[in-house]
Amino acid sequence: MSEPPIYVTQPHLPPLEEFIPYLEQIWENKVLTNNGPFHQRLERALCDYLGVEYLSLFTNGTVALVTALQALRIGGEVITTPYSFAATSHSLLWNSIKPVFVDIDPDTCNLDARLIEQAITPQTTAIMPMHCYGNPCDVEHIQTIADTYGLKVIYDAAHAFGVKYKGESLLRHGDLSVLSFHATKVFNTFEGGAIISPDAKSKKRIDHLKNFGFVDQVTVVAPGINGKMSEVSAAMGLLQLDYIDSVLARRNEIELRYRAALADVEGLSMLEQPSDTKGNASYFPIFVDANYPLSRDALYQKLIDAGINGRRYFYPLLSDMPMYRGLPSAKPEALLAAHRVANAVICLPIYPSLNNEQVDRITELIVSL
Ligand SMILES: *Cc1c(COP(=O)(O)O)cnc(C)c1O
Repeated sequence: MSEPPIYVTQPHLPPLEEFIPYLEQIWENKVLTNNGPFHQRLERALCDYLGVEYLSLFTNGTVALVTALQALRIGGEVITTPYSFAATSHSLLWNSIKPVFVDIDPDTCNLDARLIEQAITPQTTAIMPMHCYGNPCDVEHIQTIADTYGLKVIYDAAHAFGVKYKGESLLRHGDLSVLSFHATKVFNTFEGGAIISPDAKSKKRIDHLKNFGFVDQVTVVAPGINGKMSEVSAAMGLLQLDYIDSVLARRNEIELRYRAALADVEGLSMLEQPSDTKGNASYFPIFVDANYPLSRDALYQKLIDAGINGRRYFYPLLSDMPMYRGLPSAKPEALLAAHRVANAVICLPIYPSLNNEQVDRITELIVSL
């Protein structure tokens, strides 16, 4: 009998019987959404867990990104990374903002802070970097540039749940940070997301914007969207928080096992783990270069043929997608590192229920040729 296929990720699901009492309470309360009791509890619990002061829950990370830009009244041009998920730059287009792509640092896969200044124009209003694979952007350098030029910084922190940088939550950097709680992420609420803001005033504006702009029953202050998280998702989040430490610990073990098995493979490289960061092992990317006996796509196919579904995160680049490729900043010549990385990467399966035998089967396929 052949083994069932292994996917790049599998959602973490707590035991069903533990979720039933939450559902019973929702049925009893008859409050399904609109800042209900589970929603309020999850906002407080996440602030405590993450070590942040103000957090607004959302129906998903994409609507949270769109709303974060509106909350700060961003327009004109925004400097961002070509090496991300579509939602990052799509959130700019949803706000009629022109994305300006700047190349990445191949050692981190994050927006290269050294290249930001030369992309600033009189129309630039903000920088939107992404903490790729949960590895911190160069937050100090980016903040210095933002302060010098009077720009806002919005972090797409969809990969960065629970990441600590220099002993503090990474989410405390920038004007706003945006999380995703999609099923495939480290922490999930089926679908969900959040904006982390630095003060009560920002949170209040964001909470109005995610509820059509309503301040009270008769006062509407902005053309807000419906971005509210339901009680079912909020309850799921509360239950997931009971498991998050063991989820992160198991992800970390898998990462260490991959690193040990793949450390000396000719033609393969991995990202370095920064010593000032407590990561979340949200992804495990490997990079295939010309010294490896197979091309990236041949290795990717070899794994698929063996029932192992890696993903080429991120390929293609955002700047090569039809809605962006006409932009002056999308020219491949200016994004050489991003192209090199996008053509080399495979993210290997990593999720808490992946067992050591499965990890070993994957690394043996990569090592033995
Ligand atoms: C998952 C993800 C998003 C979108 O989040 P959703 O909750 O799925 O809308 C945005 N940016 C990045 C980098 C992501 O990985």
